[in-house]
Amino acid sequence: MRVRIHRGTEEIGGSCVEVEAADGGRVVLDLGRPLDAGWGEPVALPAVSGLTEHDETLLGLLTSHPHLDHYGLAVELPVEVPIYLGSEAARLLDAAAFFSPVSGALRCAGHLVDRMPFELGPFTITPYLVDHSGFDAYSLLIEADGCRLFYTGDFRGHGRKAALFERLLREPPGDIDVLVMEGTHVRADGAHDEVVFETETTLEDRFVEVCERTAGAVVVFGSAQNLDRLVTVYRAAKRAERTCVVDLYGATVAAATRSTIPQPGFDALRVYVPNRQRVRVKESGQFDRVARIRDHRVFPEELAEAPERFLLHVPSSTAAELLRAGVLTARGLAVWSMWDGYLDEPAGVRLRDMLAAAEVDLVHLHTSGHASVADLQRLVTALAPKRVVPIHSEAGDRFTELFAGVDRQPDGVWWEAA
Ligand SMILES: [Zn+2]
Ligand SMILES: [Zn+2]
Repeated sequence: MRVRIHRGTEEIGGSCVEVEAADGGRVVLDLGRPLDAGWGEPVALPAVSGLTEHDETLLGLLTSHPHLDHYGLAVELPVEVPIYLGSEAARLLDAAAFFSPVSGALRCAGHLVDRMPFELGPFTITPYLVDHSGFDAYSLLIEADGCRLFYTGDFRGHGRKAALFERLLREPPGDIDVLVMEGTHVRADGAHDEVVFETETTLEDRFVEVCERTAGAVVVFGSAQNLDRLVTVYRAAKRAERTCVVDLYGATVAAATRSTIPQPGFDALRVYVPNRQRVRVKESGQFDRVARIRDHRVFPEELAEAPERFLLHVPSSTAAELLRAGVLTARGLAVWSMWDGYLDEPAGVRLRDMLAAAEVDLVHLHTSGHASVADLQRLVTALAPKRVVPIHSEAGDRFTELFAGVDRQPDGVWWEAA
């Protein structure tokens, strides 16, 4: 079995790994859009035979989870390639496509199911459901020709599904020849080496605290697709005796997934339809999208009348209309619940200026979607692979300082897995 990482050995995101068996059959693990590519900017497909013209030796594309930096280039392939993704991840992408021009639905040939092996030509593939900020995310065990490769995808050990990580450590697949491991928090300057990330559970406590000390609305700006965070915010709202308000996009995505995720119909959960989403519905003529949530809908007037009764989880693009409507006031609080680097980008700077002008405080409540260095080390110890190959890191060169058996490989070059 041989392997070629097309993208990801020098950067976080854009991951793409091609694996070839002795008989020439191949699978591709992830086909991500680089994070540094602008919206709408065309990105060339990696040089994998079968992506731009039919090649029957390409047996499948396995997408680990529904984050753009892992599936983004798979949305509009010029030829049909059998794509595999978790079933809930696929439903999430279907639901998101209407609202988010950068999201896209994938036509799936099959679905990844936790610890259910399946075969593609000479390959046996076993997905392992993992804890990550992306929903329905998997690590993948790829076996062929007596060789075993474990690709982590993106994962963490401190989220709402941390038990999955502990189970993997307790019951690791044995005899791993190569571990292709993400290293988002392996940084060139080592700044994250010792960092212990807050769990979603302690984050929930902090959301409760801010609700209790805020006299107005608490408005959380987050990602509609980070369902772990939605659970955290909803639970905090319940504890603080506030009604949780989500936008139509968030409500639609949540309703597309499993019934345990807070969604319309849940106690003390209401749906706000921001201007931009209302226009989108109107232009598309898909009024059933709004009709479906009619019983749970909340309008700005009701929010503005008693803002202290509400905790909102909405996109940051709603800030201006919430300020204008008197929902978010100087008595309220804005919470940034995503990576804080976005606040330094032009849209983030505009948001900060807008909130400052309205004298609304902004705090940052967030925890990483990726494993700490300590958890990466625990995984390497548990799997005890013959080799560790870095991916999804800006500092693959530093892996040798942190893990045993590191074999650094460059982008675009074939190497033997065993
Ligand atoms: Zn990623
Ligand atoms: Zn991810």
